[in-house]
Amino acid sequence: MSMLETRTTSALLYLDGVHVSFDGFHAINNLSLTLEAGEMRAIIGPNGAGKTTMMDIITGKTKPDKGEVVFDGTTDLTKLDETKIAELGIGRKFQKPTVFESQTIGDNLLLALNVDHRVRGTLFWRETRAETDRIERVLETIRLTDARDRLAGSLSHGQKQWLEIGMLLAQDPKLLLVDEPVAGMTDVETHQTAELLKEINRDNKTVVVVEHDMTFVRELGVKVTCLHEGTVLAEGTIDQVSENERVVEVYLGR
Ligand code: ADP
Ligand code: MG
Repeated sequence: MSMLETRTTSALLYLDGVHVSFDGFHAINNLSLTLEAGEMRAIIGPNGAGKTTMMDIITGKTKPDKGEVVFDGTTDLTKLDETKIAELGIGRKFQKPTVFESQTIGDNLLLALNVDHRVRGTLFWRETRAETDRIERVLETIRLTDARDRLAGSLSHGQKQWLEIGMLLAQDPKLLLVDEPVAGMTDVETHQTAELLKEINRDNKTVVVVEHDMTFVRELGVKVTCLHEGTVLAEGTIDQVSENERVVEVYLGR
């Protein structure tokens, strides 16, 4: 490939030969990953494997030293900043929930919608019908319909994670990146989160979810990629990956 052309691919997300180093330390080392439109992929791997850095690369927070990162067939993400990448329809949920605690659940979702923030501050701003409908649908998906008027600060940790996923959904992204959503959740919340992500994926969203909880990953029932030292160690079904000797050695057996 010449430096000037961008690869054309049928995949929604295509990473090939990606390298990132921090002060000489190779955090991402020849990473290649292909995600089809409509797919959900689980990413596992030990701490420091590069899972979060991979999300930083996709969202433009970190620029690779080398390699291709292509979205939706033709868009070279390495040339775009974080705002532009978000505008393409790539939404990200960080590990820690960052909802507006002193606002209601409904207002948190409204704030997340792509509306003109200057107009919203005035007396004349009204929620449009389309926005109301969108918020209703998101509230149903994240199981918070009855909590719409409660303050976000009163939610459980698990519910805050769902609200934040809802804030991403309000923006109608094509690709959702979700980093360790079930950390700190109860078993029931963990199970409900698997159901929730499966619903979101059935609704035609492509999803990348990083998680250590193997019960949760198994419940997702999707293709799994195990990262180690910044590269793909194994890829396949949860059974294939969890039986892989190297995966057991560096991750599951620990
Ligand atoms: P994971 O999410 O799989 O636990 P990370 O992507 O957070 O791993 O980190 C991969 C490696 O890169 C780790 O060794 C981490 O310390 C290092 N790293 C990540 N971000 C930075 C940074 N901004 N500066 C220096 N080192 C970093
Ligand atoms: Mg991480």
